[in-house]
Amino acid sequence: MAGFDYDLFVIGGGSGGVRAARIAAGEGGARVGLAEESRMGGTCVIRGCVPKKLMVYASEFAELIEEARAFGWAISEGRFDWARFLGSLEAELNRLEAAYRGTLKNAGVTIHDARAVLEDAHTVRLSTGERFRAKHILIATGGRPFVPPVPGADLAVTSNEMFHLGALPRRALVVGGGYIASEFACILNGLGVQVTQAYRGDAILRGFDDEARAHVAAGMVAHGIDIRLNSDVSRLEQAEGGIRAEGLGEFDLVLYATGRLPNTEGLGLEALGVEIGARGQIVVDAWSQTAVPSIYAVGDVTDRVNLTPVAIREGHAFADTVFRGVPTKADHETIASAVFTQPEMGTVGLSEEAARKLGPVQIYSTTFRPMRGAFAGQPDKVLMKLVVAADSRKVLGCHIVGPDAGEMIQLAAIAVKIGATKEDFDRTVAVHPTMAEELVTMRKPVRS
Ligand code: NDP
Repeated sequence: MAGFDYDLFVIGGGSGGVRAARIAAGEGGARVGLAEESRMGGTCVIRGCVPKKLMVYASEFAELIEEARAFGWAISEGRFDWARFLGSLEAELNRLEAAYRGTLKNAGVTIHDARAVLEDAHTVRLSTGERFRAKHILIATGGRPFVPPVPGADLAVTSNEMFHLGALPRRALVVGGGYIASEFACILNGLGVQVTQAYRGDAILRGFDDEARAHVAAGMVAHGIDIRLNSDVSRLEQAEGGIRAEGLGEFDLVLYATGRLPNTEGLGLEALGVEIGARGQIVVDAWSQTAVPSIYAVGDVTDRVNLTPVAIREGHAFADTVFRGVPTKADHETIASAVFTQPEMGTVGLSEEAARKLGPVQIYSTTFRPMRGAFAGQPDKVLMKLVVAADSRKVLGCHIVGPDAGEMIQLAAIAVKIGATKEDFDRTVAVHPTMAEELVTMRKPVRS
C-alpha cells in the first residue's frame, strides 16, 4: 500500500502479537513489523505459564520420592539445588525465545527490539527514534502485576521476580487468593519453603466452582500450607528477623499476587481516541477493533479472558479477518482452564453456583482416593464433578481436582463444548483403571 512502511505493525511480542504477526505475514502475505521492548515470547513464555509450569514440576519431586519408596524403591531424599534449576530454566527460556524469533523471521516479520508508542492512527515511534507508518496497528502489550499501595509494599516481590530469586526463602508469605497466588504457594511449599497464604476473602480461587475450590484448598492445607482467610495485609515492615506482616508474623519473602493490570500507560492511546476502560484496558469490539478503525488490540491488554490460548485465538482471528479475507470472531464461550496448584484443578463451563442461577440442575460428584495414591498411603482425594441441566440433560460444567486434572479437562472440554448430555457421557465406555473413568460412571445425582 503506497505511503505505508508496513501493512501491519504489532506492538508486543507475546502470545497474541506473535500469532497475529505470523499469520498476517505468512499466510496473509502482509508486510509486518513487530516491536518488543523486553524478551520475545511475552508473559507466558518468559515470566508466566512456561517457567511456572517447570517450577511446578520441580516442586513435585519431593512427594514423588516418597511415593517411589512406597512402591518399593530404595531412594534417599537428595537435595534440591535452586541455582542449578534456575540455570536450566534460563537455558530453556533462551531456547524458546529463539524459537519465537525464528518463527517470526521465517514468516517474514521484521522484528524491532524496541519500545513502540503511537503518534497517530497510522504511525508508531520506536525508542530507537525510528518512525513507521502502518495501515493497521495491533496492540498486544499484555499486562503487569498489580500491587496494592500498602505501606512497605516495596519490600514485596511479584510473580515477575519469582523466576530470579537469588535463593529460596525459608518462610514465605503469599498475598492473594487467585491463580498466581495459589500456584506459587504450592510451588514454594513443594520446594520445602514454609508457606503462609493470606487471602482477604473467605475462600481462595473466587469464581471457580465452590466445591472444587474447597477441595483444592483442603488439599493445599493438608500439604502444609497455612492459609489465612479474611486476612488483609495492611502494612509490611522490615524487622530484624525478616519482613513483618501485621498479624501474620515474619517472613524472608513476601509475594504479592493480587491481580494484573493491562499495559496501556504511555502508549499515547487516549489522545488518539482509543477508548480505555476502568481497569486501564483497551476497549474493543468482537473483532478486536478499537474506536479508531486502524487500531486493533488482542490479549491481556483488552482484559477479556486473560489466558494465553485466548490471546492466541484473538490474534489469529484478527489476522484471518483483516489479512486473509476470512472474517472470524474469537469465541469466548466455554473456555477450559487449569490451575496448577497441588492438587491441580481443571475446569470447563459453569460452576454449580452459576448454573443454578440459570435453571434447575442435577449435580453428579464423587471424591475418591486414586489407586496410585492409595497404594502409596497418601491421603489426597480426587474430585470429579459434572453440573447437568435438569431439563436438557446437557453437561454445563465439568470440574476435576487431582493429578493431571489439566490434561483431563482438555478432553472433557470437547464434549462440553459440543453440548454433550449426561447420557452421552454415560454411553462412553470407561477406560479402566483410570481416574477419568469416574466421569462416565457416576450414575445418580448427589443433589438437584
Ligand atoms: P486473579 O484476579 O486471579 O486474583 C487476584 C487475587 O488477588 C484475588 O484473590 C483477589 O481477591 C486478590 N486481590 C486483588 N486486589 C487485592 C487487594 N487490593 N488486596 C488484597 N488482595 C487483593 O489474579 P492473578 O494475579 O492470580 O492472575 C492474573 C490472571 O492471570 C488471571 O486472571 C488468569 O487469567 C491468569 N493466569 C492464569 C493461570 C492459569 O491458567 N493456570 C495461571 C496464572 C495466571 P478477590 O478474590 O477478593 O478479588
